[in-house]
Amino acid sequence: LELHYNTHYRDHVAMLNAMLKTIPRIEGLSLIEIMRDSYLWNKPLYHQAAQSWNHDFYFKCMTSHYFPPSKSLVQRISHDFGSFERFQVEFRKAGNSNLGSGWAWLVHDGVTGKLFITKTTGADNPMVQNEDHRPILVMDVWEHAYYLDYHNRRKDYTEAFVTQLVDWKFVEENLQRVEAEAVLLAKAREQARIEEEAAKRERERKEAEAIVEAARIERLRREAEEAEEAARREQELLWLVEQEPIIEEVNATATEIVIEVSEADQSQENHA
Ligand code: FE
Repeated sequence: LELHYNTHYRDHVAMLNAMLKTIPRIEGLSLIEIMRDSYLWNKPLYHQAAQSWNHDFYFKCMTSHYFPPSKSLVQRISHDFGSFERFQVEFRKAGNSNLGSGWAWLVHDGVTGKLFITKTTGADNPMVQNEDHRPILVMDVWEHAYYLDYHNRRKDYTEAFVTQLVDWKFVEENLQRVEAEAVLLAKAREQARIEEEAAKRERERKEAEAIVEAARIERLRREAEEAEEAARREQELLWLVEQEPIIEEVNATATEIVIEVSEADQSQENHA
């Protein structure tokens, strides 16, 4: 444990600190935010950040003054795993069966409120891709975590970890903290949902208003067009009224011509 803490863990922190100085865009972010931010675009940074967080958490999960878990924690864990012994078996199984380098985790799901066991490889941490998954206990199963003391007997290490090393008080405090945070997160999401709903209603109200306004403008345009047309017709009518004496004169002349023509026609017929 001393070598693990003073070389492996210390090296991750030193390398992370060196990297942080060269990447201004992550200035001011928390370690968890750096892990989430770097996960997709900078694997070396993600690796150092996650290994720093994981080891910090791992060493806090252990105590040199082992004390069994409280009754309330045993009840809480038994509720989700059947019994505390069942949980110990499943947690060790996750550690023992994790091929290669990785971690075994006891995680609280903020959505269901349940505890579950999972394992990750390399530096991966369950909360990086799911903010509702909050670890409350972790066991390092990289070879460097047990090889000096247990050689290839990882099962002996996981048994010692679960029965002699875990700081159950720390685990219980973690559980209380993540449960409280899950309640706050659920409230914040509900508030955001209500605000989004109100914003959506406001958008819809403004859209409906815009439709009514467009219809009003169209109606005014049509009315103006109709008024213009009516004025044009009236002008036409006035022009016709002004032209009436001339028309009557033309009509009279036309009648005379018709009569003359008719008389001429009649005389030609008679002659024939
Ligand atoms: Fe380690």
